[in-house]
Parts: sequence; C-alpha cells; structure tokens
Amino acid sequence: MSGAPVDALLAQLERVKQTGPGQWRARCPAHESEGLTLSIGEADSGAALLHCFAGCGAADLLAALGMQLSNLYPPDELIKARRYDTRPRRDLRATLHQISYSSTVVEVAAEQINAGKALSSEDLRELRAACHTIREAAL
Ligand SMILES: [Zn+2]
Repeated sequence: MSGAPVDALLAQLERVKQTGPGQWRARCPAHESEGLTLSIGEADSGAALLHCFAGCGAADLLAALGMQLSNLYPPDELIKARRYDTRPRRDLRATLHQISYSSTVVEVAAEQINAGKALSSEDLRELRAACHTIREAAL
C-alpha cells in the first residue's frame, strides 16, 4: 500500500521541521535559499498542501520535486483505508450552540415532567428535535 502524499513529499525535502500537527517547514527545492521558506501541510482530505513564502509557484515546486499535481492527492484506495474526512468542516462553535440550546430544551421538559405536567405535542416535537440535534452532533 502506498503512503500518504505528504509522506512522499516530506521524503524528498531537505531540512524538514515539524511545526505542528500535520504541519512542517522545509528548505524550498525551487529557489536558492537556506531558510525554511516552504510550508507543508496535510488537509483533512489527505491532500498535501505546499506553499513557498518566497513566492515560488506551485508549478515550479512540483517541477523541482519531479512530482505532478495528482501526486499531492491520495489515491482512492488510501481514502477508503484511512477514512479521510472528505466532508466539509463543521463549524464547532455553531454545533456547541445547538447542543447548548438542545440541552436547555431537554432540561425544561424534564422539569415539566417532574412537576407532573404533561408535555404538549409542540413541546414533545421540540424535545424530539433537541435529542436528534444532540445525537447528530456526535456523528
Ligand atoms: Zn521557493
């Protein structure tokens, strides 16, 4: 099985330094410099990301590496094997707000039941929607 595109890319670069999770800096192969001007990243989709802060274009970078644009993207079998997340990124803050609101609905319903009051059909619908929202947030 072939490795991730970013691994193949890093193997070809000099003075690679990891700067964070899925992020590296290295010497740019497309221009003369000892500085670590090349930024390398791995997208959630598994694609390798390249950027030279000295201004080298993507085509120059790929030519210097002897790579093609398609080399930066994971092959289909790797996407399946690694379960790369190809869904759009979810807004975490918005999700937390939804969970917060939903938990309030659940709390109010619980207090109403505890007080011996029956839930109206509208309250029940709201409660079901809130439970659905909380479950969906975990997916
Ligand atoms: Zn460069």
